[in-house]
Amino acid sequence: MKKEKAVVVFSGGQDSTTCLFWAKKHFAEVEAVTFDYNQRHRLEIDVAASIAKELDVPHTVLDMSLLNQLAPNALTRSDIAIEQKEGQLPSTFVDGRNLLFLSFAAVLAKQKGARHLVTGVCETDFSGYPDCRDVFIKSLNVTLNLAMDYDFVIHTPLMWLNKAETWKLADELHALEFVRTKTLTCYNGIIADGCGECPACVLRKRGLDQYMSEKKGAHVQ
Ligand code: ZN
Repeated sequence: MKKEKAVVVFSGGQDSTTCLFWAKKHFAEVEAVTFDYNQRHRLEIDVAASIAKELDVPHTVLDMSLLNQLAPNALTRSDIAIEQKEGQLPSTFVDGRNLLFLSFAAVLAKQKGARHLVTGVCETDFSGYPDCRDVFIKSLNVTLNLAMDYDFVIHTPLMWLNKAETWKLADELHALEFVRTKTLTCYNGIIADGCGECPACVLRKRGLDQYMSEKKGAHVQ
């Protein structure tokens, strides 16, 4: 894959930043694409832009505000609480988001002569998002290839990793400190370790604590 070009779907969070490092290791050329869908925190776009700049990765921001027009949700509207009711999808779920994002990323990738797409979706820490499942990604890959008569390959390096293993991957890519201090995952818009209380921060910290204690344990043995 080393001689080829990849486009990374990039939000500036822990997962997609780890994917960006992964892509830089595996491909000769890497670009990043970020979707502006009127996120609750505009800072997300700025963080993505500054990380891409620091890593010397060409970065495109695409306007996807129509997504918010179609499906208002807790990630874009401050009057919708972040919650998950028993038996329902969480209020952070946006219908069609990954379908649309990956489709637009594919159109962009083809124009830029890239056939590899990289996305940080993950089935293991499954929040109940149907479009993070491996079966969906494989199905979309076939659909994109048929739609554009092009051999896209969608890569999902985090698909079967839990949060601790995602930190381990960042560490193996020599990016643990970078990811820990420069990315934005927090639903309350606080960079690095975040607010410490929202579901995204809790998940991120639990994974980091678990990985660091495993690493320490491995050194002791
Ligand atoms: Zn938080």
